[in-house]
Amino acid sequence: MDCKEAKNRVNGYIEGTLTNKECSEFIEHVRSCPDCYDELETYFIIGYTLDYLDSKDGVDRSFDMHRLLEDDLRKCERRISGQKLMKTLTAVCVIISELSILLGTAVTAIPGAEEFIISVLKLFKAN
Ligand SMILES: [Zn+2]
Repeated sequence: MDCKEAKNRVNGYIEGTLTNKECSEFIEHVRSCPDCYDELETYFIIGYTLDYLDSKDGVDRSFDMHRLLEDDLRKCERRISGQKLMKTLTAVCVIISELSILLGTAVTAIPGAEEFIISVLKLFKAN
């Protein structure tokens, strides 16, 4: 991704409208490009300040903007990698189910498989 593309994605990042792929590419770019990081930080500060002014909760908030932006970037990275993991686990469940059908065995015949599939499906629902 070049700087022009990254700058076009700043608003999408702030508004949370980027796809996982776009977000991942964007974060990778801003992590290695100080110019785009500064641009993101500027928009992040504006967004955070407007949000603060709009809120009437009276709660004192941190204004360590660099740390807040880093927390936000890490949160996005964790969300993306969590979703990738869920896709992989779901694919594993599908493969186990299809294999058990192909082999004519019930999933329950594999020790722990049923619990594994149920817990993955619960996690998937929670996300
Ligand atoms: Zn750049």
